Amino acid sequence: MEYAKKCDACQRHAPVNHQPAEPLHPVISPWPFMKWGMDIVGPLPKAPGNKVYMLAMTDYFSKWIEAESFSQVTEAQFIGNKTEAFCARWNISLQKSTPRNPQSNG
Ligand SMILES: [Zn+2]
Repeated sequence: MEYAKKCDACQRHAPVNHQPAEPLHPVISPWPFMKWGMDIVGPLPKAPGNKVYMLAMTDYFSKWIEAESFSQVTEAQFIGNKTEAFCARWNISLQKSTPRNPQSNG
């Protein structure tokens, strides 16, 4: 192992393991529009109306995408009090996760 770490040919041409470090956790959505992914992108280059942010929502079942542009994002955090209140009012279950912390996907 120590020899291979120092060998330039092994470092450049050894097969690369493309397997994930841990088993994948599939996201199950049994019917359309049951589960959505939501993300805010930006700031982006200015569009008409000084819009620099995009809210993108993707249905996990059909991969249907809805997107809207905004000039500002007023909540301090992506999931703030207003979003949580809206979801509570409409009986929407919020599950927070990030690609960098997949353990929180449940
Ligand atoms: Zn070698």
